[in-house]
Amino acid sequence: MRDVRVRFAPSPTGALHIGGVRTALYNYLLARQHKGKMILRIEDTDQGRYVPGAEEYILESLAWSGIKIDEGVSVGGPHAPYRQSERKELYKQYAQKLIDEDNAYYAFDTEAELETMREKLKAAGNDNQQYGMHSRMDMKNSLTLPADETKKLIDSGSYVIRLKVPAGQQIQVNDLIRGLVTVDSSQIDDKVLMKSDGMPTYHLANVVDDYLMKISHVIRGEEWLPSAPLHVLLYRFLGWEQDMPQFAHLPLLLKPDGNGKLSKRAADQMGFPIFPLTWKDPATGEVAKGFKETGYLPEALINFLAFLGWNPGTEQEIFSMEDLINAFSLERINKAGAKFDIQKAQWFNQQYLKATSNEILADQLIRESGQSISRDNAVKIVSIMKERVTFPREIWEQGKFFFTAPMGYDEGVISKKWNDEAVTVITAYKNALTKESAIDSTSAKNVLESAAASVNIGVGKIMQALRVAITGNGSGPDLMMTMEILGKEEVTKRLDNALNTIKVKA
Ligand code: GLU
Repeated sequence: MRDVRVRFAPSPTGALHIGGVRTALYNYLLARQHKGKMILRIEDTDQGRYVPGAEEYILESLAWSGIKIDEGVSVGGPHAPYRQSERKELYKQYAQKLIDEDNAYYAFDTEAELETMREKLKAAGNDNQQYGMHSRMDMKNSLTLPADETKKLIDSGSYVIRLKVPAGQQIQVNDLIRGLVTVDSSQIDDKVLMKSDGMPTYHLANVVDDYLMKISHVIRGEEWLPSAPLHVLLYRFLGWEQDMPQFAHLPLLLKPDGNGKLSKRAADQMGFPIFPLTWKDPATGEVAKGFKETGYLPEALINFLAFLGWNPGTEQEIFSMEDLINAFSLERINKAGAKFDIQKAQWFNQQYLKATSNEILADQLIRESGQSISRDNAVKIVSIMKERVTFPREIWEQGKFFFTAPMGYDEGVISKKWNDEAVTVITAYKNALTKESAIDSTSAKNVLESAAASVNIGVGKIMQALRVAITGNGSGPDLMMTMEILGKEEVTKRLDNALNTIKVKA
């Protein structure tokens, strides 16, 4: 195999969609597996769609995701610059070569003339209303106008350059995921290669750069598959067919129910993020919360994304980046669209959260809860809470009772469980606890059992009442550990308070 050199080539037109992160990931995995290079190229030739801050956002998102760039806008490299707007001059010679060899031509049509062409073709019942082999000879271009007029128009500077797609050819694209795709050249229109502002279009710039940057594999979203035959033609016309990269067009990401493409709107409606990091749209000021800010761990998100369209062919689901690098293969990517099952993403997050060390989570808890709490206790809290939550912040959101005594008690539990038996046991328990010098989870349990035995009531009957007295809630983490963390003084105080304020329902 030739040296693996892949590229992620986003356009800075807004926040990076989560599908873009998956594309970058697959490129990265292939590069790392083959000790190749991962290139980041910014495709900013469409100045009209440029969004300030988008490039920085892309860089930050990749960095957070753990996708490292070997060559590109941020790090430089032998093929710099990696921002297409800075390579503007370079594309001209290739457009010129295409013109010189009669594979491209100048066109001077105005917007209105293009519209008239479309209408005319439509009226004539023509399915294909594009500028191309069916229509180009009726248009205003260097193929139809006399040489002197053509020259005048070129000199005036207002022209585009279009590809001259040959008639009657079968163009083949060998896609590593989809196999051989054959397209009749009559389906391809004479795409604009150079715009009137002197900028190349995506098609020309993309092909030229992939060639110059010695890209071995083009791995990108399925939406680019229709452009691939056109790119094959460009490689042929530019004499680069031998060095053409291999193509792999990734399956679409679908809404969770499989009904249509995953979109920002669908994600908003269903209440989950679609961007890796929080993004503030500079035009509208609208803020979209990211996966990071929602509480997803980057390792979990990566694991989840890797499985959207790919699988290792085994039962194993938990894969670190290193594992993915070893296991990944383009051959195992599916053709069918991948459902964006957000519950699966949450499941991955839970798995990674459980596997995160208590020390790391304890530091986070101390930092983010804003509570003064010993590190020892913080470690204990996260150790019993992390099994129960999906996102780290839920540890303190659902564990508020560790820091403040309940302000109220769960009514549903009170009405069912706060009865004379509960009051009897809890009173006996509180009295017994006052005699202890300190409690840990074991002694809290032993004292409870003997207090309950002393009044001849089973512990099981009053457990929920005890929990509600201490935490205010009907369910929660291990109660004995909770008491150990709270300490004897606090527990007895809370029991006292509950006994004084909660009334037994008649
Ligand atoms: N600039 C294109 C995009 O934004 C890149 C497509 C490709 O990878 O060729 O998706």
